[in-house]
Amino acid sequence: MTRRASREIRLGKSTIGGGRPPLIQTMITTPLTRPDEAFAEADRGLALGCRIVRTAVRSEAEIAGLTELAKRFGGDLIADIHFDHRLALAAIGCGIAGVRFNPGNIGGKDRVAQIVEAARTRPDLALRIGVNAGSLEKDILEKHGGPTAAALVESTRRWVEYLERDLKYLNFKLSVKSHAVPETVEACRALAAFTDAPFHVGITEAGGGIGGRIRSAAGIAILLHEGLVDTFRVSLTAPIEDEIVTGMHILKAYGLLDGGGEIVSCPTCGRTHGTLFAYHDKLEKFFDEHRWWLRPRLTVALMGCEVNGPGEAKEADLGIALGHGSALYFEKGSLVRKFDDQDAAFAHLLRRIGEIWQLSPVKGE
Ligand code: SF4
Repeated sequence: MTRRASREIRLGKSTIGGGRPPLIQTMITTPLTRPDEAFAEADRGLALGCRIVRTAVRSEAEIAGLTELAKRFGGDLIADIHFDHRLALAAIGCGIAGVRFNPGNIGGKDRVAQIVEAARTRPDLALRIGVNAGSLEKDILEKHGGPTAAALVESTRRWVEYLERDLKYLNFKLSVKSHAVPETVEACRALAAFTDAPFHVGITEAGGGIGGRIRSAAGIAILLHEGLVDTFRVSLTAPIEDEIVTGMHILKAYGLLDGGGEIVSCPTCGRTHGTLFAYHDKLEKFFDEHRWWLRPRLTVALMGCEVNGPGEAKEADLGIALGHGSALYFEKGSLVRKFDDQDAAFAHLLRRIGEIWQLSPVKGE
């Protein structure tokens, strides 16, 4: 894995880029006309470890709600603006950490310049230039015959040059998103060749369920591998909790999460003794209930047989391997105890995880 040398920018209390680990971002869905509920949703994200939260600002009527949310929220709040540059100008005065807008639909260079001038008055506020396939300029769409990767890059480059060269403004990050993984990856690679602005990445309109998670992970993992991620969002047709936890899974799989639990379990085969699928589901539920990504590093193994299991899971911190109506409990690859009852072995495993993570007492044997 490489890390792109993106430039550092300020986003409220966060610093982004400059080789720092990627940060997860999400977007709340509660309208700002219901500020108490919007705060509760944003605060749930913060409690899950996601400190950058975006919210849609649809009209002047929502500026009061944005101001209230910015005052109460302990993370970094980004206002998402479309079409009306005056909303961006008003939002910048609300104490938020960032403004995301799409220059393709904000009404031209003069209006973009007005947003940049307002942003200069707040050195801790970042702009995000968000270009996506659904809102490219007409001339670019005609030239490229559609929203191709090359079209995304040309549109973004146009605006990057305007901000960096003409307006001499650098405290912004970029996003180019498409529903297609290859196009998104190709566009990010091309952009990295001519700017050091930090990147916010994701696969837009990825869907929900397992398909959305896999599509997002496929794209984000490639970009992580190439060091092209400064912040990212797993955009799902699902509650913010699902976006954040999926993001944590991606960081964990990529070795970019400080600490956190991890399950190692075998795929099972003809040698499997007992119901490993059921133990896996229970362990995964236990992990999620206790927010595994916020806990100290711990690798837990579930193996289907006692012949190959302990050996195959020797890197795990602790685990069980099923036998004929029995189970071996091991820690750091060494056998600690043999159980004549598999449920008892599993209960012991949960109790040990609870001790290590210092959870309130977990039901034991
Ligand atoms: S650990 Fe045992 S049960 Fe699991 S896949 Fe390997 S051989 Fe099969």
